[in-house]
Amino acid sequence: MSEIKFACPHCCQHIACDELYCGEGIGCPGCGRVLFVPPLAAFIPLQAGNLTMALPVAFKEQPQPRSATLDLWSEERWARHASESRDQQQPNLLPLWVLLLLPFFVAFILITHRAGPAAVAFCFILCALASGIYLAANQHKPGVGKVLMGVLYSFAALCVYVVLSFGLLFVGCLVAVM
Ligand SMILES: [Zn+2]
Repeated sequence: MSEIKFACPHCCQHIACDELYCGEGIGCPGCGRVLFVPPLAAFIPLQAGNLTMALPVAFKEQPQPRSATLDLWSEERWARHASESRDQQQPNLLPLWVLLLLPFFVAFILITHRAGPAAVAFCFILCALASGIYLAANQHKPGVGKVLMGVLYSFAALCVYVVLSFGLLFVGCLVAVM
């Protein structure tokens, strides 16, 4: 059973209760007036067993109140909860950019040291795989989905490299013609 969190439409008091109360009328522990707990579909799952809705909820005129176990959230606790949720959705993308740009520098060094095209291709494939694995590791998904996303991201990174290589080749040819 999940806990849901929402705000009272009358006094904006933040309320937490069990998802069983979704769609039910309850008495607000803050102002004592009657409000309707929003339906479960209105909540965005931030993490398993923890559902939050930031928007104020609607209420009806003549509901049948029902007693519910509610805990009041302080503003500070609410803000901390909100910022924690935001942090989880924003993975750090800096290592990804480093991984994506790294093979260009490595390839440049390899070429200046007269390495073959196979070595250059290998370093691009390795970095594409590494960025794919990094992105997949940041996904909040179960095991199989994570592996699948990793393969997909790696393939996408490889495609970007191929497109970039052809673009560079095209620019090179243009410069050579002119
Ligand atoms: Zn209230």
